[in-house]
Amino acid sequence: MTFTKKEFKIEFKERLQERFALSVSDASSKELYETLGKLVTSHYSGNWKNTRQGYLSEKQKQVFYFSIEFLPGRMLKSNLLNLGILDVVEEGLSDLGIDLEDLVQEEPDMALGNGGLGRLASCFMDSLASIGMPGNGNGIRYEYGLFKQRFVDGYQVELPDEWLNRGNIWEVRRESKAVNVHFGGKVDLIEEANGQLKPIYRGGYSIKAIPYDTGMTGFENDTVNTMRLWSAEVTQEDKAKFQNFEGRQELENLTSVLYPDDSNEQGRRFRLSQEYFFVSAGMQSIFNYYKTLKLPMIDMNKYIAIHINDTHPAMCVAELMRLLVDEENMSWEKAWDVTSKVMSYTNHTIMSEALEKWQSSLMKEVCPRIFQIIEEIDRRYVEEWQGVFDDDLIKRTRIIRHDQIHMAHLAIIGSHSVNGVAKLHSDLLKSVVLKDFYAIYPERFNNKTNGIAQRRWSQLSNPMLSKTLDEYIGKSWRKDTTNLRLLLNHQDNNKLLSDLEQTKFENKKKLAAYIKEHNDVTVSPNAIFDIQIKRLHAYKRQLMNLMHIIKLYLDLKENPELDITPRVFMFGAKAAPSYHFAKSVIKLINETANLINNDLDIQDKIKVVFLENYNVSLAELIIPAADVSEQISLASKEASGTSNMKFMLNGAITLATLDGANIEIRDAVGEENIAIFGLTESEVYRYYNEQNYNSADIYHNNPVINRVVNAFVDGTIPNCCMEGQEIFDSLITYNDEFFVLRDFMSYCDAQAWIDASYKDTKKWGKMSLNNIAHAGHFSADDTVRKYSEDIWQIEPIRKG
Ligand SMILES: *Cc1c(COP(=O)(O)O)cnc(C)c1O
Repeated sequence: MTFTKKEFKIEFKERLQERFALSVSDASSKELYETLGKLVTSHYSGNWKNTRQGYLSEKQKQVFYFSIEFLPGRMLKSNLLNLGILDVVEEGLSDLGIDLEDLVQEEPDMALGNGGLGRLASCFMDSLASIGMPGNGNGIRYEYGLFKQRFVDGYQVELPDEWLNRGNIWEVRRESKAVNVHFGGKVDLIEEANGQLKPIYRGGYSIKAIPYDTGMTGFENDTVNTMRLWSAEVTQEDKAKFQNFEGRQELENLTSVLYPDDSNEQGRRFRLSQEYFFVSAGMQSIFNYYKTLKLPMIDMNKYIAIHINDTHPAMCVAELMRLLVDEENMSWEKAWDVTSKVMSYTNHTIMSEALEKWQSSLMKEVCPRIFQIIEEIDRRYVEEWQGVFDDDLIKRTRIIRHDQIHMAHLAIIGSHSVNGVAKLHSDLLKSVVLKDFYAIYPERFNNKTNGIAQRRWSQLSNPMLSKTLDEYIGKSWRKDTTNLRLLLNHQDNNKLLSDLEQTKFENKKKLAAYIKEHNDVTVSPNAIFDIQIKRLHAYKRQLMNLMHIIKLYLDLKENPELDITPRVFMFGAKAAPSYHFAKSVIKLINETANLINNDLDIQDKIKVVFLENYNVSLAELIIPAADVSEQISLASKEASGTSNMKFMLNGAITLATLDGANIEIRDAVGEENIAIFGLTESEVYRYYNEQNYNSADIYHNNPVINRVVNAFVDGTIPNCCMEGQEIFDSLITYNDEFFVLRDFMSYCDAQAWIDASYKDTKKWGKMSLNNIAHAGHFSADDTVRKYSEDIWQIEPIRKG
């Protein structure tokens, strides 16, 4: 369903009057935004209904993607683009004297995730709908999203993100689909006449789970899938009943806040309750749906696929067993066969602190029946392999060990597929992290390199570049990004190179204006925009970036005539509120920025800008303006990365270690179009095996490094005595866990290469063009297609 500009204007004015009794000139941006939002949802609601009914009538196999985080950002423009009405609406509004961008700003970022993991889930939602696959999301409707970050005296301060305060125009509350999730109490098993064990529940509490559905529109294809987010509702009556229950506080606020971390599990009961809540609610609703198909339970895997995104939803395995065995009276063996065919699991990290484990006693308290089922899965696992594999291997891989439940083990044992998110990461799973499981289940392991929703990260965020591309290679790349390769035919077209340069320049001016407004720092769009935006983590090594900046600063102080290309170093990063080290790095970057930006000796040759409150919308502003994409994690630590792909698509040159998907980016663009430095993964592992890394040696023997590291403690950087000492200690006293000093000189060389290369405008322009041309490799549309074929066995939507 589409309309002309004239029809749009009429409908828009009618809706504004209907809803607010206002005319355009009297309405606020918020009222205009809501009116437009309603107009958009009403334009896809028919297709949303049809898509759902189509699945039902065709009995098509569907995937349900369980993720404890989704990070969609804003949805207005994405929906307009997908419905094919972005241009008409923009022009129509303009006729009415309204700037679409003003309305866009009224939408709060939907930030129900910490970083890459949640963003990936949202890119997948977009792609599933856009390639017309039957796929739905299942998650938690947090009342407060990821905290808002402010800087006070250079320190990170966290403010609550009350994103629902102003309403959410995209969601639909589905009271009729509510289910109850049971927590606590005791479960006895009674043997029935037929020999089956029946659970008898004593005590405990049920929490009502209400689903809120959001339509996920496909790109120009009439498909609208569903992202279902669950909200816990506790009545006053319920509250009275919880009086004496130990987990009372958690149950009452179950879906209030997003756990503000993406790797450190602090073993909080609250988090475990959240996990069981969305797992049980989601599984029950799928179960209810499946029952309406009136098909045998034993055939469930032919109609349903369930994906476990990281280990947080791993209890899906036990919850499906509970439903099949306890509620459908299926035998354990049959239920297990169905369950493992339905489930699949993605591992997202090799960082051991992020591998979830729960105390048995805690799980027994929170969800006793699930604990019993996990015990039984564990017992049978050991029994199955005894005598086949040696006892040590079984011990290392079983689910419950030393009274701890290993969630990754549960997910792997209960799934038919285990995948990593980039080639290197998947290889490391097989050879190191999950080596023991690879010995037992080699056929389950596979790789699915991450991808990005290319429409959001090019057409929506970078309309200027998109128009330039249209002029030279036509519009086919908008539907199929592999067609960006057509650019390679124009590598030596000076007019194109200069047009690309001009669009980059305009995007940099836009970002410079934002920086002026928000940071009160003047930056020149003629400088190199060198950008590192991602969660703040030691392994991502923002610290190494800072050290290089300090080195440049010290060099310039010593020799103010030093000929360097002017550069603006930019950061965007949130630190987990309890992550002390990360917060100290933020403070140091902010103080270094103050020092450098106000030092007249530097003559604006370098500037340092830390942009507050990094989120999806800010990424959409920053990435189109980037010249350099910093992807400098210690090799082996970043499972894939996805911001690296977004930057590449926007023509930035990647400055990277051979880690995660950086390796595949290098393979795609060729060595001459990327700046690679640092240890390789095998060199890192050699240090681990030989245990002979010694950062103090480097510090004492390398005068350059010595001088830079001393800057943290000798007063060079003002106002951060404690933080400087902490960083110094991490590097020297605690032997530099992420080999910052080992990679530092190599990083400086790569930075010098960037400096020199940028001076050669033509060379730089061609490198940039090559990056855009090869970015089609990293489309989430393709990634999701591979998941669909290899893992989920789902097919494109049949039109009934
Ligand atoms: C893409 C994205 C990420 C992931 O960035 P990495 O550099 O791959 O870790 C995190 N946060 C936001 C807001 C993003 O858009």
